[in-house]
Amino acid sequence: MRHGDGPPLVLDCGTGARALGFKLVGQPVREMDLLFSHFHMDHVFGFPFFIPIYTPGYNVRISIPAFSEDEARQKLGRYLNGVYHPTRLRELPANVEFIPIRPGKAYRRGVFDVKGLQLNHPGGSVGYRIEADGQSFAYITDTAPFARPGEGVDAGEPPTAAESRVIEFLRDCDMVVYDTMFDHDEYLEKMTWGHSYPEYADALCRAAGVKTLVLFHHLPDASDEMMDALEAKWAGASNPAVIVAREGATVEVQQPAVPSGQQGEARAPVNVEG
Ligand SMILES: [Zn+2]
Ligand SMILES: [Zn+2]
Repeated sequence: MRHGDGPPLVLDCGTGARALGFKLVGQPVREMDLLFSHFHMDHVFGFPFFIPIYTPGYNVRISIPAFSEDEARQKLGRYLNGVYHPTRLRELPANVEFIPIRPGKAYRRGVFDVKGLQLNHPGGSVGYRIEADGQSFAYITDTAPFARPGEGVDAGEPPTAAESRVIEFLRDCDMVVYDTMFDHDEYLEKMTWGHSYPEYADALCRAAGVKTLVLFHHLPDASDEMMDALEAKWAGASNPAVIVAREGATVEVQQPAVPSGQQGEARAPVNVEG
C-alpha cells in the first residue's frame, strides 16, 4: 500500500514478495512497514527472498501478532535459522525491527493508521483496517465465516455476535480485500479449513456499507477460466462493487465517485498493488 511519498506498507510475504522487493529497493524511500496476518507458509514463503532485508541502510519495521518482541522475532526467525534458508535472522544487513502487536489495538505505521481484528482461522489470523487521509481499506484473510450455515447475514438472518464485531470493524470502508478461497459447496465440505466464499464476503460487506469488495486468496488450483468466470459472475455487483484480485494489479482504494475535475480538494490516493 502507498500513500503519497510515505513509506510503503506491505501485507504478508507470499511468493509475490520477491518481485515487490526489487521494486521497492529501486525507489528513493529507504523504509517500509511489513504487517503479518499469521505465519502459515503461504504468507511467509517470500520473506527470505524479500530484497529490502538484504539492503544495508534500509529500515524494515515488521509488525507481528505476538505478546513480546522475542516471540515476534521467533515466529519469523524459525524460517531464517540456517535450516530452511542459508541466511539467519541476526545476519540480515538491513535495519530490521520487530514490533509485537495485539488485535484490537490501534497504532500508526508510517502514514497509515492501523487497527487489527482477530479472525476465524486455525491457529489464528489477524485482519487489518488501514486508513490514511480519509480513505479506508481492510485486509481480511485468512478467515472462515463468523456464523454457521443457515445463520447470520448470508442466510438473511440478523448478524451473529461475531459478525456484528466484524461489521463494525469494516463499517463504511472504501475497499475490503476478503478471503474467498472456496465456493459455497467447497466451503460446506471444508468448514474447518478457515476460509470463506464470495457470497459470504459480499453479504458481510453489504451489511457494513463497504464500497468495493476485492475477492482474494484464490484457490491455488483455480484455472484462468475459473477466475474469468468468477469475474464475470460478479461484474454487475453494486453495494459493494466486486472485483477480483489479480497478481501485479494496482487499484486505487477510493475510486472516484464523480468524474475527476468535479471533486473537492485534490488529495493523494491510497494505492494497493497486488
Ligand atoms: Zn492460513
Ligand atoms: Zn493463507
